[in-house]
Amino acid sequence: MVSLAPSGRSDIDIDIDIDIDIERSVSCEERSSAAPSSRSPATTRAGSSRTPAEESTMAQASRQHTTGGMTGPPRVAICGAGPVGLAMALELARFDVHSIVFERHPGTAVHPKARNINTRTMEVARQWGGGVTRRLRELDLPEGWTDQIVYTRTLAGEEYGRVTTPGFSGSGDHLSPERPVLSSQDRFEPVLLRAAIGSGKVTVRFGTEVIRARDEHDHVRVDVRDRSTGEEDHVSVPYVIAADGAASGTRERLGIPLVGRAAGSHNINVHFRADLAPWTDQRRGVMYWVADAGHRGVFQPLDGAGTWLCQISYDGNPVVRDSFSAERCTAWIRQAVGEPELDVDVLSISPWVMNVLVAERFRVGRVFLVGDAAHQMPPTGGFGMNTGIQSAHNLAWKLAAALDGVAGPELLDSFEHERRPVAASNAQRSFDNSRSVWAVAQAGRGEHPDGLTPREAVARAHRYGNFAGMEFGHVYDSAVITSDGSPLPTPADPVEDYVPVARPGHRAPHAWITQRGRPMSTLDTVRHGFALVCSGVRPWVALAAEHDVRPYVIDDPTVRTAYGIGDTGAVLIRPDGYVAARWPHDPGRTTAADVRAAVQRARGWS
Ligand SMILES: Cc1cc2nc3c(=O)[nH]c(=O)nc-3n(C[C@H](O)[C@H](O)[C@H](O)COP(=O)(O)OP(=O)(O)OC[C@H]3O[C@@H](n4cnc5c(N)ncnc54)[C@H](O)[C@@H]3O)c2cc1C
Repeated sequence: MVSLAPSGRSDIDIDIDIDIDIERSVSCEERSSAAPSSRSPATTRAGSSRTPAEESTMAQASRQHTTGGMTGPPRVAICGAGPVGLAMALELARFDVHSIVFERHPGTAVHPKARNINTRTMEVARQWGGGVTRRLRELDLPEGWTDQIVYTRTLAGEEYGRVTTPGFSGSGDHLSPERPVLSSQDRFEPVLLRAAIGSGKVTVRFGTEVIRARDEHDHVRVDVRDRSTGEEDHVSVPYVIAADGAASGTRERLGIPLVGRAAGSHNINVHFRADLAPWTDQRRGVMYWVADAGHRGVFQPLDGAGTWLCQISYDGNPVVRDSFSAERCTAWIRQAVGEPELDVDVLSISPWVMNVLVAERFRVGRVFLVGDAAHQMPPTGGFGMNTGIQSAHNLAWKLAAALDGVAGPELLDSFEHERRPVAASNAQRSFDNSRSVWAVAQAGRGEHPDGLTPREAVARAHRYGNFAGMEFGHVYDSAVITSDGSPLPTPADPVEDYVPVARPGHRAPHAWITQRGRPMSTLDTVRHGFALVCSGVRPWVALAAEHDVRPYVIDDPTVRTAYGIGDTGAVLIRPDGYVAARWPHDPGRTTAADVRAAVQRARGWS
């Protein structure tokens, strides 16, 4: 049982649904045509305090390609409306920060890449409101398709082995109130888009390319070009987010190098329809890796109803790449399935290169890199987009604090200090997964360097699909975290095993508590601000109120133990759900000055 103590804040409601009306926003079909803004220019302009330059941008925006319309001037410009750019806009909207998103393409993705929205990202989406997570869950693969990875020679041929995959099916509600969603990017990007524009705090300008972003000390001038008319315009904002993908022009213009390994492998991503039920229905899987002397790749179900992706490995030769016509892809699919007469309908084809790269810096002045602009990793594990969205989650509340004038000098720098190591680690571990898959292929050809059989090589690939430690176990070690001196947990395997701890720098663990007779996750204690999860000892509540922190009094001894606060301690949780400080003992031993210092440090004042 948890009881809510009065905090003096009126904006936090225990019901986490934020005010996003998805149905009211325009449809995707409208978006890709020259649709007018869903709000009239008059409404957009009313009460606006934007500069003439911003007015000009918005007037242009409202004429063409624009969805949404803000009720206030944009404070942040986001370059790129991929999943990470859209998530960034949603996160900023959560903190009441208005943003404008520029996307050079006429709409959201048509060719799917990412499928896995992992559990931690669903926890992030939970804070965007129940409507978003519900709509994402509606896109999830049907029951049974996410439980295992299957390794075979061909779909119809010898099976090498299987690995169960709680990473894709969910680790259970003892670890999280959410479960992952397996869908496809072309289907879930529109959900993010509609939620963003439905918030009334986001404008998205499609068909508009960012040409440059120039830091002019107290603001950034962003020059854009309408790709259909060639007309140029600009907007001036306090901060810019580069979410412009792997080939980020913003990153390049800032001269930020990428470090790591480029072009690890070359692949063709084919979106197609075919009836693969005879080879998959009795052993549903999230992936079917196939490897033989003549082919190597993977089949990935998108809807459990005949729509698939496959990734075809090739040698990187551009002539070979360009030879992958629909006919050649069909021939490859038939060979890899082992059915020469299979009906295949190729929908789209897109080549991609596997990189293991991380930008040397995630921030230059007022410009921040997120998503593939900041890091690129092999898709083995499904961490690229997820890492990007979770970085957006780390950054948004910090930007909001900076815009509100309450952030100390360390806060914005902590974004790079906290997220770059996570990105580097996820990139390396994703690469390890790709090597374990490669080892199965080698074993299948009788060429494994240690002489493993395919079955033995599959057994060694057990981390791919089992990554609770990698997903929940990252720890931030930055200037805005107050250490409590407790030792780091030591999981048996840092990739597979997660040890829930409320130690400073860790994700505050999920536990079910009851609020007004309803079950509630401890993750829901944070919404727009900091929370203090504490024992019932009265001084904590008073201390929290003093620092504009929402107190939650925990009665359940199991939860108190899980949080390491016994009968008298407290944990300070940041708006992104990470622990900023912990006092295992009563405030009799922790002074008001200690609490004040930790809260100040968490806001970036050292
Ligand atoms: C086969 C495959 C499978 C994958 N599976 C997964 C998975 O299951 N889970 C996962 O987490 N990740 C996965 N990934 C990785 C994931 O697709 C990427 O990490 C993700 O798309 C990155 O999102 P983003 O928004 O940063 O960049 P992008 O999706 O690349 O979006 C960037 C956007 O910026 C726009 N843009 C670029 N320049 C400009 C400009 N100058 N002006 C305006 N707009 C601009 C682009 O048009 C683009 O729309 C997979 C990748 C591949 C190749």
